[in-house]
Amino acid sequence: MSDNIIKEILKELPKDIISFAVFEGANIVLYTKDKDFFINNQQDIKAIVDKIKKRIELRPDPSVCMKEEKAEKLIRELAPEDAELGNIIFDPRRSCVIIESEKPGQLITNRGAFLQDIRVKTSWVPSVRRTPVIRSKIIEDIRAVLYANSDDRREFLNRTGERVYNGWLRKKKEGGWIRLSYLGSGRQVGRSCILLQTDESRILLDCGIDPSGTDDAYPILDAPEFKIEDLDAVIISHAHLDHVGFLPYLFKFGFRGPVYCNEPTRDIMALSLIDFVKIQNTEHEKPLYGMDDIREMIKHTICIDYDEVHDITPDIRITFHNAGHIIGSSVVHIHIGNGLHNLVYSADIKYGKTRLLDPAVNKFTRVETLMMEATYGGKLNMLPSREEAEEEFAKMITHTIMEKKGKVLVPVLGVGRAQEIMLILDMLVREGKLDKVPVYIDGMVWDMTAIHTAYPEYLNAEVRKQIFQKDNNPFLNDMFVKVGSSKERTDIVENQGPCIILATSGMLVGGASVEYFRHLGEDAKNSVIFVSYQGEGSLGRRVQRGEKMLMVSVNGRKPEQIDVKAEIFTIDAFTGHSDRNELMNYVKRCQPTPRKILTNHGEASRCLDLAASIHRSFGIETVAPRNLDAIRLR
Ligand code: ZN
Repeated sequence: MSDNIIKEILKELPKDIISFAVFEGANIVLYTKDKDFFINNQQDIKAIVDKIKKRIELRPDPSVCMKEEKAEKLIRELAPEDAELGNIIFDPRRSCVIIESEKPGQLITNRGAFLQDIRVKTSWVPSVRRTPVIRSKIIEDIRAVLYANSDDRREFLNRTGERVYNGWLRKKKEGGWIRLSYLGSGRQVGRSCILLQTDESRILLDCGIDPSGTDDAYPILDAPEFKIEDLDAVIISHAHLDHVGFLPYLFKFGFRGPVYCNEPTRDIMALSLIDFVKIQNTEHEKPLYGMDDIREMIKHTICIDYDEVHDITPDIRITFHNAGHIIGSSVVHIHIGNGLHNLVYSADIKYGKTRLLDPAVNKFTRVETLMMEATYGGKLNMLPSREEAEEEFAKMITHTIMEKKGKVLVPVLGVGRAQEIMLILDMLVREGKLDKVPVYIDGMVWDMTAIHTAYPEYLNAEVRKQIFQKDNNPFLNDMFVKVGSSKERTDIVENQGPCIILATSGMLVGGASVEYFRHLGEDAKNSVIFVSYQGEGSLGRRVQRGEKMLMVSVNGRKPEQIDVKAEIFTIDAFTGHSDRNELMNYVKRCQPTPRKILTNHGEASRCLDLAASIHRSFGIETVAPRNLDAIRLR
């Protein structure tokens, strides 16, 4: 029997009906010049899909598609009026057309009658995309990169598919082995980077840095088992720098394989990495990598939605599930071999409801090994309730703004906490618990917010509903004011009255938050409120600890001494991480119960403590691997 999957498929179809076939990653795409067959084939194709259990799509051959101008005109004529169409973007080499709409729901009602009409009348394959409520240059730039290189992109996707189906129908080997090597995040917060090896595949789970600025900041890629030329793919759980900060470096050194994540993660990681390079440039450090490497990374990214099963090598199949941590964050279910082993890489999880997201998923068809974070895994890492924390937050702000007539600086990671804080502020004002004051949203935070409004499907039901009704979109509340330049920052600091400022970075290591801190920190009427984890060694941690005399360097300029007089507050409960109780509950309610649990992404004592407690409470075998430890799963 041939091991070429496409040949096997063609055998099942009428002769010469398919003009050519390619892979788009794990999807198999067939093109036909026969319009009738394109419209009426569904049964034939479905039968093959059922037989081989792989994704197959039939498209019209590009030569039979209607001329673009004519097709665009027809699409606009046929669309229901209230759908409010935006751009219509053709991808002629793939016979696909993307229809942007403010109300995509209007285009898919009536069991997709409109889309079917477009297929029949234009011989294009239509898909619908929501027009972002807030326009974002970064989203447009990323899409431009993907289209500008569409030939390279097609070639890459085809190559990826060939790798996935290499050896398809090959007789399954007996046994097989599986091994994990910690190249980072072993008893350490951040620097997430774990190598998964099987006898067939080499996969990297995340590729992050430790952003708090310690010596052990980068993944240990000189570990003997890691060879960049053997790497099949990288899986990205979410877009925080401690999970993606080192990814472009792989491309700098020649990696050209696929990066798997979802759309919001792709957009956010591109934006954060560009910002990261900019910060390194202004601080006169030699950047780790350049914009070209980031562009290369975008070109090699393959996006997968939640709950979609996807083959990535001949023996590995992955599914992303909501992790509740930031938009797009994923618990990655990894199925290895044909039922050989099921590994869940949960990365950063929030097992509790937040304003933005639903709790992390912990129900799977099968799971033998679970890898979980221990950021707040220590016995004492219990957080107060969200309600209490929100009230306390409102009090701190009222105290600063009303009583002291000062300004509030909230250093935030661009994504996650910032949007959570925006939702909380919007709600506090709507409920009359807080007076309306300007909330300045600095550069990157604004772009990240735009990305949130572009992918409402990734948020929880309440926020999604609010975003869909324009008048109710919390992110469009007019108290939020966008800030773009250093000049605007100076104006806010020097001329504006009481206000709230959200700016990156979250740990006061570079970025606009340091600039604001330099200007606001010495005045007792101002306040700084920390809402995210402060890494050991970061300026944020020192301020939080109450150090008063600090050297602060803004944008790479000569460090200046500042005498901190502003009030310093910390609210831990807004974290996107699970506290100790939530982590224990995540395991307790995990279905099915894992046989083995690895704890990582936490300070040593917390990884060890969490591992010991899980073992004691649930009788599950646990390990808290160190960096460079290798664990054999099979
Ligand atoms: Zn994270």
